[in-house]
Amino acid sequence: MTSLEQFFRDCNMALDTQHVQQMETFLTLFQKTNQQLNLSAIRDEQDIKVKHLLDSLHIGALAEMNEGQRVLDLGTGGGFPGMPLKIMHPGAEMVFLDATGKKLRFIESAAGTIGMDGVYYLHSRAEDAGQDPRYRGTFDLVLARAVAYLPVLLEFALPLLRVGGRLASAKGAGVDDEVHDSARALRLLGGKVESVKTYQLPGIAEERSVILIRKVSQTPREYPRRAGIPAKKPL
Ligand code: SAH
Repeated sequence: MTSLEQFFRDCNMALDTQHVQQMETFLTLFQKTNQQLNLSAIRDEQDIKVKHLLDSLHIGALAEMNEGQRVLDLGTGGGFPGMPLKIMHPGAEMVFLDATGKKLRFIESAAGTIGMDGVYYLHSRAEDAGQDPRYRGTFDLVLARAVAYLPVLLEFALPLLRVGGRLASAKGAGVDDEVHDSARALRLLGGKVESVKTYQLPGIAEERSVILIRKVSQTPREYPRRAGIPAKKPL
């Protein structure tokens, strides 16, 4: 048994052998590339397994991601949570979006090595993608881990969702204030908080949260505003 297989077993996660192998390939490529490019500050192997791979799987489970969905990983960085979740759900279509091209090129190259299909790369600001008819209103699920303060993230994500689709915003502990501050953005953009779920990772005291937001009505055309404005003047 490989150490990664043992790791998932110890975490009570039942993964297909093929999926573990693909995770292993991704882990190796991530570690190698992270020595040259700054993909992530997390460099210790055990930390990568827990804080990146396992955390991504928790997010996918809480978001009830499934095959057949069109999914956007908004601000994917080094590929989290989108890469491990695409491995787990090969039938889902996965679009990786980031404003930083070098990170996307890494993901593209890793996906090629793994032999993934149904993956797309969008080198863009979320604000620009949200006004592009090829993307606006087309996603069943938007995943975003550690990307922006919730009112700002809502302006990035809600225009991209179809009505009825969901945003899963993954954050650390203490999201009550952010949820509270989001009332106006939710009203203007057509979103509704469905639930806030908390969980813990092995060996880490601090709780983590996934905020699930449903798009309940069409987002007015004026949103998202121009790139940079959502963060500068949150709704
Ligand atoms: N989701 C990853 C990376 C988090 S860092 C993880 O959890 O490990 C945040 C990432 O979001 C960065 O890669 C940054 O380039 C991207 N990002 C932030 N604002 C963005 C925007 N407006 N449009 C596109 N990408 C953005």
